[in-house]
Amino acid sequence: MTDIDYKNLGFKVRDVNANYISYFKDGKWDDGVLQKEDTITISAYSTCLHYGQEAFEGLKAYRRKDGKIQIFRMDENAKRLETSCERILMPKVPTEKFIDAVKRVVEANKDLIPPYGYGASLYLRPYIIGVGRNLGVRPAPEYIFGVLASPVGSYFRSGLAPVNFIVTDKDRAAPNGTGRVKVGGNYAASLMSHEHAQELGYADCIYLDPLTHTKIDEVGAANFFGITKDNVFVTPNSTSILPSITKKSLLYIAEHYLGLKTEVRDVYIDNLDELKEAGACGTAAAITPIGRIDYNDSKHVFYSETEVGPITRKLYDTLLGIYFGDIEAPEGWITIIE
Ligand SMILES: *Cc1c(COP(=O)(O)O)cnc(C)c1O
Repeated sequence: MTDIDYKNLGFKVRDVNANYISYFKDGKWDDGVLQKEDTITISAYSTCLHYGQEAFEGLKAYRRKDGKIQIFRMDENAKRLETSCERILMPKVPTEKFIDAVKRVVEANKDLIPPYGYGASLYLRPYIIGVGRNLGVRPAPEYIFGVLASPVGSYFRSGLAPVNFIVTDKDRAAPNGTGRVKVGGNYAASLMSHEHAQELGYADCIYLDPLTHTKIDEVGAANFFGITKDNVFVTPNSTSILPSITKKSLLYIAEHYLGLKTEVRDVYIDNLDELKEAGACGTAAAITPIGRIDYNDSKHVFYSETEVGPITRKLYDTLLGIYFGDIEAPEGWITIIE
């Protein structure tokens, strides 16, 4: 990539050298190959097209100051994909296979990983789909596991800044449904609330817990966290939240790097006054500070609508420091590709 404007990469598909593809047939996975084209040929009867038998992951590889590349917590993504596969009856992708595929794609696209200093990275999109000729509602006879890649920019081009959210009256998942796994169906269900929120000028919507609609579940396709007035890092507990690896990492960072207490518990939408800062977290943006949440007729401002709270800022700086290799990561969090 020459003449690339690394500051304005955005989040979109760009041509890369290679992606990975592997087939599951007759009860076993093949070894997988790298291919140039991002097209696949499948039967139009495939379960992924009709019944949503699909799961995906998202993770990033980062360029360090010393020029080496590091991948963040890919074993966690491998484990989460296994959970997703289990829930919708797809064959598991063994962790070693997942890691091998991600490493092969990163190595094949090494020259496309943005330089250090732009907050940019190589986004990796593992996916698994049910394929083959099938008519009834049942698990597919065959599967494809692939890993796509695209260089992406920093989410906050002009620095970390708070944005506003509105609570939606729709649910993305059911209490005992598939909200806790990263499967395609949840995202079709989220498109309308997302678009509606954006049309009204919000960054995204907030989902309440689908059983009682009294507690915060998720922030668009990101997890929620808040900082209480006595400096406790809190994040919701629910059966319909997708367990974010960024959230899991922030819980650790809050406790072990910042010395904060942490709690995973209910966060009531009527009790936001207990929080002095709040944010959304996920691989795409790392942390998105929440300025204000609008719910029915109430407008709740956290730290400020224009400035980032000091603890949110520290969490963000520490997490990014770890992503890019400037701050020492806890053991096992990063894999360096020479
Ligand atoms: C992927 C995802 C997240 C964030 O997970 P990370 O592992 O932190 O990237 C949060 N919520 C939903 C619904 C997601 O799909």
